[in-house]
Amino acid sequence: MMDMLVQLADNVWIFPRDADPVRAQTQPNVGIITTEKHTILVDAGNSPRHARRIMIALDDIQAPAVYNIIYTHTHWDHVFGAMVFGAPTVAHEIGQRQLAEMATRPWGNNYVQEEILRTPAREQSLRAMMRAMEEWRNFRIVQPELVLTKNMTMYIDDVTFEIEHVGGRHAPDSIVVRLPQSRVMFLGDCFYPPPLHLRNPDDTYDFAMMRSLIRDDVDVYVDGHNDPVSREVFTQIATSETLPNDTV
Ligand SMILES: [Zn+2]
Repeated sequence: MMDMLVQLADNVWIFPRDADPVRAQTQPNVGIITTEKHTILVDAGNSPRHARRIMIALDDIQAPAVYNIIYTHTHWDHVFGAMVFGAPTVAHEIGQRQLAEMATRPWGNNYVQEEILRTPAREQSLRAMMRAMEEWRNFRIVQPELVLTKNMTMYIDDVTFEIEHVGGRHAPDSIVVRLPQSRVMFLGDCFYPPPLHLRNPDDTYDFAMMRSLIRDDVDVYVDGHNDPVSREVFTQIATSETLPNDTV
């Protein structure tokens, strides 16, 4: 099956999350921004296999070479594809420490099986990891070359990237990426509840954080595991504190 990008603005696409709602939880949206000479990704896919599918889709739109990858946070499903692109990455400083620690682990199915025995609450996510990672040989976690503490603005060709650390309960290193010219904001999983193994049954979205991200100069909001939404829909969810039925 051919993978189709979803275009959000002149020079902005996503490689959309898996259409299956269960698999979508571990195969997130990947943002694609093209400038005259470069392609910048927001997140890297959940595995080299996922990243290779993204590469093929980039070829289909004749996107320039990938120049930079911005990690929204360092959960495996957002970073494990990075090695395929051969591009430097950007992360928050908390994420940098986490990635350095993650790189010391003996990744492979044996190690992941041991992790499941050690922390059974992570079984669902770790089994998804093994399914995504068909092959661990030569696997490596790409460490960030550029690290931010609070805010950072990148200018690449004529495109501006406003990056802001927002943290939150899902991942302390969560950042958001705003494209002022395209009026698109990438949110990663910043307003989600804690990861499954740390979650209480009544944990829900961080609606206060969502409200803090509502801006007149953003038209499209893209989180990690749902379809992109308009500012109107995003505002509706944030202010009514009610999730649409099909929300992940
Ligand atoms: Zn996450």
